[in-house]
Amino acid sequence: MIEDKNPQRTSIAQLGEFGLIDHLTKHFEINQPSTLKGIGDDAAVLDFKDKKAVVSTDLLVEGVHFDLAYMPLKHLGYKAVVANVSDICAMNAKPTQITVSIAVSNRFPLEALEDLFAGITHAAKEYNVDVIGGDTTSSQKGLIISITALGEANAADIVYRSGAKENDLLVVTGDIGAAYMGLQVLEREKQVFQVNPNNQPDLDNYTYLIERQLKPEARKDIKDLLEKLEVKPTSMIDISDGLSSEVMHLCKQSNVGCTIYEEKLPLDPQLISVCEEFNIDSTTVAINGGEDYELLFTIAIEDFDKIKANPNLTVIGHMNKETEGKHLVTRANQKIELKARGWNALEE
Ligand code: ADP
Ligand code: MG
Repeated sequence: MIEDKNPQRTSIAQLGEFGLIDHLTKHFEINQPSTLKGIGDDAAVLDFKDKKAVVSTDLLVEGVHFDLAYMPLKHLGYKAVVANVSDICAMNAKPTQITVSIAVSNRFPLEALEDLFAGITHAAKEYNVDVIGGDTTSSQKGLIISITALGEANAADIVYRSGAKENDLLVVTGDIGAAYMGLQVLEREKQVFQVNPNNQPDLDNYTYLIERQLKPEARKDIKDLLEKLEVKPTSMIDISDGLSSEVMHLCKQSNVGCTIYEEKLPLDPQLISVCEEFNIDSTTVAINGGEDYELLFTIAIEDFDKIKANPNLTVIGHMNKETEGKHLVTRANQKIELKARGWNALEE
């Protein structure tokens, strides 16, 4: 579907390992004051002064986490950075640096890696993180990308998964489920394309969903927003594997239960209409679909007035006693036990 008519193909073997690293990394700029040394030595050197450093890593494997048939490499690079930056945001920290490690087979020409790094560069600019190192090696088959993100925070500002209390309100940013439905649309179009490569898909009705799948954004704005509202979450996590499984992490680590209300779930109108078209229940998609990179957090009930008018934030339920369990209350007022049916790469 995303095929270049006349792609230039420069073999990566031609450049050699060091030539390749130099070619891909020479344009990276250093902007963070905490970066003392970036790319070019045996290790980067950082100085966070009186702040705490937070670190998170992700590994993305072709065929398991992404499919290049509908994921352009530029988007993949962007999304790989976003997924990591999102984890830093979920600690209520500010992302500052990333490292980028890739294993690549000789099936990929230099131009493909340039696209991947164009996406990485774009995301690094957008999120103001310095690319400070990485590793580049060959793989026998497929592309593997590992990104590590670093961030900084005052010790007192860091929010863990473990701080939720009984009666705390459960809040989600943005809307959920769209990235999953975007993937369903792309999968369908990929099959149509395989049958007839001349069939150009008309994706106008799906633009928001596809963008959420191919070009998600991390909620770097939420830390500042909450600071402005003078609210500190009691616990927080990012929604990469689906609301249901993420809320269960909060519950488990905080030793509480939860109640989520179906009618409160924030769904985009496009999600609702495409779920109808696909004959899929939108609530199931909203609670089980992954890759939205929104934040899920809990706040003390006294803070409700401070957040209630904000269009970025939706209260979807509350925490309760651990012994009361974890439930979704449907529009018909039925109580359904929550299951961690989130997207799990190991189950594929
Ligand atoms: P080493 O032998 O210590 O592993 P390399 O020759 O692999 O060093 O890397 C040289 C420099 O380039 C290092 O600073 C390393 O962090 C950086 N680097 C290597 N690969 C990448 C990459 N894919 N992205 C960003 N930086 C990279
Ligand atoms: Mg190396």
